[in-house]
Amino acid sequence: MNLVLLGPPGAGKGTQAKLLLKGRNLVQLSTGDMLRAAVAAGTELGREAGAIMGRGELVPDALVIGLIAERTDEGGKADGYIFDGFPRTIAQAEALDGLLEERGSKVDRVIVMEVDDDALVERIAGRFACAKCEEGYHDTFRLPKVDGICDKCGGTEFVRRPDDNAETVRARLKAYRAQTKPLIGYYRRQGKLRAVDGMADISEVASAIGQALDMR
Ligand code: ADP
Ligand code: ADP
Ligand code: ZN
Repeated sequence: MNLVLLGPPGAGKGTQAKLLLKGRNLVQLSTGDMLRAAVAAGTELGREAGAIMGRGELVPDALVIGLIAERTDEGGKADGYIFDGFPRTIAQAEALDGLLEERGSKVDRVIVMEVDDDALVERIAGRFACAKCEEGYHDTFRLPKVDGICDKCGGTEFVRRPDDNAETVRARLKAYRAQTKPLIGYYRRQGKLRAVDGMADISEVASAIGQALDMR
């Protein structure tokens, strides 16, 4: 099964993708994570993307499509992919359809997570992650069980994203509305879209997604 998690920045896509991996043989592909890895590696692509990400704009379609194309062979051994933060434009969605079709596959289900703007800003402002294993946390909604120690790996260093600031968030929300929201109609017309209330607690959202995946 190939699943797309759609929703504005801070909606909880990464959090839910990680939960969906548990007990399933799926591969998570997050273009945000891939781009941050390229920035950290200091590659040419990373330098180009990093400047755009710092402004809260979308990086060019060709660039992210290229990143995804390099990775869509990994799923051969798995039961499918969870796409998180991709596609973000109609051109990306069409490219994804093409890539999957070449492999005799398709997007099976798209979950759109609906969250109010105020909550998005609050989620992004409080977001941090383990520096070692990248487990995601939040200052208010998801603190490590033991203060200062990662639940998953025991790491004691945490990082915040440079683009998780009030100014960039506004640009990212604008980009979502203008360029990504049209995907809701694109996938609804194909009968693949299921909407989930993303305002609920993390565990409640997870069970709502579980139900949406079972729906025919
Ligand atoms: P996205 O991948 O959509 O940008 P994340 O999964 O990184 O979003 O979540 C953004 C922040 O909000 C993180 O700090 C995460 O711990 C927190 N979070 C995720 N889902 C919820 C939720 N349902 N309720 C409260 N906080 C949440
Ligand atoms: P969030 O879900 O919090 O917006 P992501 O980690 O998905 O964060 O993306 C961070 C940034 O990386 C985006 O603001 C954008 O600049 C870039 N990016 C990630 N995925 C894509 C994509 N599919 N298309 C274009 N730009 C992307
Ligand atoms: Zn960790």
